[in-house]
Amino acid sequence: SLSDRLGGVFDRLRGRGALNEADVRAALREVRIALLEADVALPVVRQFVDGVTEKAVGQSVLKSITPGQQVVKIVNDALTEMLGSDAADLDLDVTPPAVVMMVGLQGSGKTTTTAKIAKRLTEKGRKKVLMASLDVNRPAAQEQLATLGTQVSVATLPIVAGQTPVDIARRALQAAKLQGFDVLMLDTAGRLHVDQALMEEMRAVAEISTPHEILLVVDALTGQDAVNVATNFSQQVALTGVVLTRMDGDARGGAALSMRAVTGKPIKFVGTGEKLDGLELFQPSRVAGRILGMGDVVSLVERAAETIQVEEAEALAAKMAKGQFDMNDLRAQFNQMKRMGGLGALAGMLPGVKQVKQAMANGAGDDKMLVRLDAIIGSMTPKERSKPELLNAKRKIRIAKGSGTTVQEVNKLLKMHQEMANAMKKIRKMGGLKGLGAMMG
Ligand code: GDP
Ligand code: MG
Repeated sequence: SLSDRLGGVFDRLRGRGALNEADVRAALREVRIALLEADVALPVVRQFVDGVTEKAVGQSVLKSITPGQQVVKIVNDALTEMLGSDAADLDLDVTPPAVVMMVGLQGSGKTTTTAKIAKRLTEKGRKKVLMASLDVNRPAAQEQLATLGTQVSVATLPIVAGQTPVDIARRALQAAKLQGFDVLMLDTAGRLHVDQALMEEMRAVAEISTPHEILLVVDALTGQDAVNVATNFSQQVALTGVVLTRMDGDARGGAALSMRAVTGKPIKFVGTGEKLDGLELFQPSRVAGRILGMGDVVSLVERAAETIQVEEAEALAAKMAKGQFDMNDLRAQFNQMKRMGGLGALAGMLPGVKQVKQAMANGAGDDKMLVRLDAIIGSMTPKERSKPELLNAKRKIRIAKGSGTTVQEVNKLLKMHQEMANAMKKIRKMGGLKGLGAMMG
């Protein structure tokens, strides 16, 4: 992951006053690779990296974090900003019917997304929605939409054989007006690649239906071709937004950045499955994290900042590193974890902390387990708590009885104590909790 790779850069950059160009370029080489791996189109990567370099060079390094962490923070912010700082929903505040036109390559998910959005508008927006398929190219394309309409209880325009897409659009508009629909969704024919005849057809449909929204539907797995697709479609029609489908798969979401950079339009939704409830509002910060491969480190830090007493944690980490971390400290740690929503949440979000993940797999992932572990510590004498190495077989049996647990559980706790001490040493190497917190602001 990027944070692993930046580890090396972090060390090299440590302890300087201001970010100089060479430092920034070293860190951004790694960022560049991460972006390409996430399928951001090359020209967009270049543009982005140049912009960030300019922003970063000369910034003085905050006292509590390393220069490398500061670069990541700058990159993360720039990426989020470029993706759009807020979630952007559809804007359908017009005299009805508001026309929403879906365009995109064949197989990108237009028809499915049409039904998903119609369902969302019907259920959440309480709108009266009519859907019409203008796809006369693919056999049974109109029937596909009618079937989906039945599934989501949304009306579809009756199919009339032999009409052109423009005819159908005109008829749909009339039906929507006469029957008092709030929203008319036009699902257009797919294009295998950018094709002149179909492009003209799309333009003609847009001209007669004057859509309020024209959404470009793009497969999140579109790699370097994303720039071509975005350029071509935005040259033909006035796009108002983008929908990124198949974000349920392995896609890192780099296409989002490419689309945004080329069209200048917000990503409005992401498709998260074949099922018709698989549609979510696009969340820039989440996708930025996914593109950078930082996992959910951002949200971890945000939550940590809310709940962890940083000074207290730093003191603990220092104790751990010196080998003075005892059972009283472990107990304090458990209490923090409870406040953060369990060890499971922590372990799942910190990159590379295998030991803590292991502890979670051993059963510390839920609050109930934390309560039992707390009871075990409660049954120790003060001396045992500050010197866990005193715990021999006899003492363990006594503690297990006293806490209503088993010797195995007592052993598990001791193992966890050791594993956490190791994990905390690692976190300190990465710049400490304070550094992590400050880096994400
Ligand atoms: P169109 O040619 O652009 O109309 O594409 P369709 O809507 O017919 O979708 C093509 C295929 O992609 C279908 O099998 C859909 O079920 C699938 N699909 C669409 N959106 C998503 C998504 O967000 N996730 C997944 N996994 N599959 C999707
Ligand atoms: Mg279709």
